[in-house]
Amino acid sequence: MNKIIIAIDGFSSTGKSTIAKQLAKKLNYIYVDTGAMYRAVTYFALENNLIGDDFFKEDALVNKLEEISINFKFNKDAGFAEVYLNGENIEAAIRTLRVSKFVSPVATLSAVRRKLVEQQQLMGKDKGIVMDGRDIGTVVFPDAELKIFMTASAETRAKRRYKELLDRGHKLSYDDVLENVTTRDHIDSTREDSPLIKADDAIEIDNSDLSIEEQLNRLVAFAEELISR
Ligand code: C5P
Repeated sequence: MNKIIIAIDGFSSTGKSTIAKQLAKKLNYIYVDTGAMYRAVTYFALENNLIGDDFFKEDALVNKLEEISINFKFNKDAGFAEVYLNGENIEAAIRTLRVSKFVSPVATLSAVRRKLVEQQQLMGKDKGIVMDGRDIGTVVFPDAELKIFMTASAETRAKRRYKELLDRGHKLSYDDVLENVTTRDHIDSTREDSPLIKADDAIEIDNSDLSIEEQLNRLVAFAEELISR
């Protein structure tokens, strides 16, 4: 069977991971959430007091990158692979607004990106993978057979993220979530190294008014067409 690489990029909270997970399941492909890897490094930086409200010890974090080992283990009950930092399951710990607040500054560091991109490229060497993030179609897999770029209005995205966090029991305000989404969009799109941009050959999908099922059907159709070639 002809295996392909599917790269899904886009702004924060566009629902990339929801679709990517389901697409991978449908195709029997591996799913990799690269945002979780940047979040893991950020979690490490927070735990080690390397970043906080008014400081960021960039050099110290870069010097400690060797101490960071990130991997994924499939959780049968959850139906997807959870992220581990040095053997500890941090899947829930990285989904807080606090980690969201510091992740984009951490993701501007080239040394961090080099380390994670190298690992991501290894994970995709045998293809048969769906990977979502910000630079997958442009930097990690510029030759991916299928590239998707997801967008939706900032308000639509913030509403979705707000609901998701409330459902998980977090206490926070909608305005804080909207602020985080727009700040991350800005930092991610304007950073020097691997900014979030749509690859020339990516298919853009604005999912503001599309159900998950509609999006999934479209992506499955694109993928199956390419796989059958
Ligand atoms: O996808 P998620 O929202 O979890 O990503 C968190 C952050 O990680 C992004 O806002 C971005 O700063 C960074 N990121 C990145 N490159 C990727 C994936 C995520 O810079 N491939």
